Amino acid sequence: MTQLTELTITQALEKLRGGEISAVELTRAYLNQIERLDSQINAYLTVTAEGALKAAENADQQRAAGESKPLLGVPLAIKDVLSTEGVETTCGSKILKGYHPVFSATCIQRLQQAGMVMLGKTNMDEFAMGSSTENSGFSTTRNPWDLEAVPGGSSGGSAAAVAAGMAAGSLGTDTGGSIRQPGSFCGIAALKPSYGRVSRYGLIAFGSSLDCPGPMARSVEDVARILQVMAGHDPLDSTSMPLDVPDYVAALKGDVNGLRIGIPKEYFIAGIQPEVEQAVRAACAHLESLGAKIVEISLPHTDYSLPTYYIIAPAEASANLARYDGIRFGQRVDKGEMWPTYKATRGQGFGAEVKRRIMIGTYVLSAGYYDAYYGKAQAVRTLIKQDFEQAFEKVDIIAAPTAPTTAFKLGQNTDDPIQMYLGDVFTLPASLAGIPGLNVPCGFDQKNLPIGMQLIAPAFREDLLLRVGHVYEQSTEWHTRRPGLVVG
Ligand code: GLN
Repeated sequence: MTQLTELTITQALEKLRGGEISAVELTRAYLNQIERLDSQINAYLTVTAEGALKAAENADQQRAAGESKPLLGVPLAIKDVLSTEGVETTCGSKILKGYHPVFSATCIQRLQQAGMVMLGKTNMDEFAMGSSTENSGFSTTRNPWDLEAVPGGSSGGSAAAVAAGMAAGSLGTDTGGSIRQPGSFCGIAALKPSYGRVSRYGLIAFGSSLDCPGPMARSVEDVARILQVMAGHDPLDSTSMPLDVPDYVAALKGDVNGLRIGIPKEYFIAGIQPEVEQAVRAACAHLESLGAKIVEISLPHTDYSLPTYYIIAPAEASANLARYDGIRFGQRVDKGEMWPTYKATRGQGFGAEVKRRIMIGTYVLSAGYYDAYYGKAQAVRTLIKQDFEQAFEKVDIIAAPTAPTTAFKLGQNTDDPIQMYLGDVFTLPASLAGIPGLNVPCGFDQKNLPIGMQLIAPAFREDLLLRVGHVYEQSTEWHTRRPGLVVG
């Protein structure tokens, strides 16, 4: 029989429902896998083994009593940016070491009500700032496909946990690509929902106008199942949309016949790894062979996404992170007086990237520079959004690479922030436009590292995105491959 940790959520639920396996057995299998592999991968910051087993027992009892909640007994890993009641939540930062929230994020509460078993909290770039998880204040997560490569970021721990069979699925958050890019680097399905589709309540803020929690898993169908539970209006988040949530699993049925898929020419540029371009173009040709129509399109302001994002996100971060001063929030480094205490707390508590962003953000928001930088960036953001609106008059969905390269080596970009930022070129536009993006595995490079295709849909059309992703996945094998370390 397939190892329990290799089952998709959909398969595991079938076996749980049929009484073939128990939630306790499934949870133990994942805890064993964490025990076996996580000392090499470092995907988790906290493993909540005891709580997980208790939740699993509870799930088994509920099932025996006739309950059938959508994720009853399914073990998931949670990015450490999401508040979890009573469980340490650090956001990958030393400044929040020892912080135990008194409440859980709305999406966590919803998953718990749906029967999830939480395995623990995953590593991430500090305050979700980064593309490699190397900015974590605690440890460096490694890519299960190559232990010398990064897992991507900032949700690198969540992606690595799923790829290594150390969780059935996970939650990440995406501000500028942090769900899709690690999904691509680790070879799993990963969805950034539309802004406003999933509540941000309890998500520790980085860029409030961009942050989106979303699911990561080993199949698109699993992603749909998790999203189903997370999505929907929340009165505690004024930017969450009061829209009906479609049945995402039901929406997977169907085909791509006649569907118009736009290929943006600005996403196939010099500098992209040739194998990535080839794999994504081959994936598009495959969708064409299934009946879709391929249409060449242009998103003319794509080039401006990077500078726009790297003004807006740090600006919002500088405001959001002001609370970590050792007085209101954050581990205090007490120097007796207020200013020295602030300085020592922030000096020791924050890593270099977070400091860099707070400084850039403060600068672009300061009097005299606001209009030239922040105001201008907001205007360009509107142009980027309009590019997509115009494109979606001609096509139903857009297909592109998720990232310009496959996973890079640990340390390769750490001394060069611009190089690191450049890796975000293909994920930033959809973030700025607030529209959903899905990574689907579509190939491997010569080093046997996964390649990801990004599908982008109009706002609140996750149903369409998931359907196309599912149809592609059903007729290809890429998503079924596992890292050698995991199977061996
Ligand atoms: N890599 C981008 C950044 O560093 C995106 C991060 C994210 O989506 N949280 O800001």
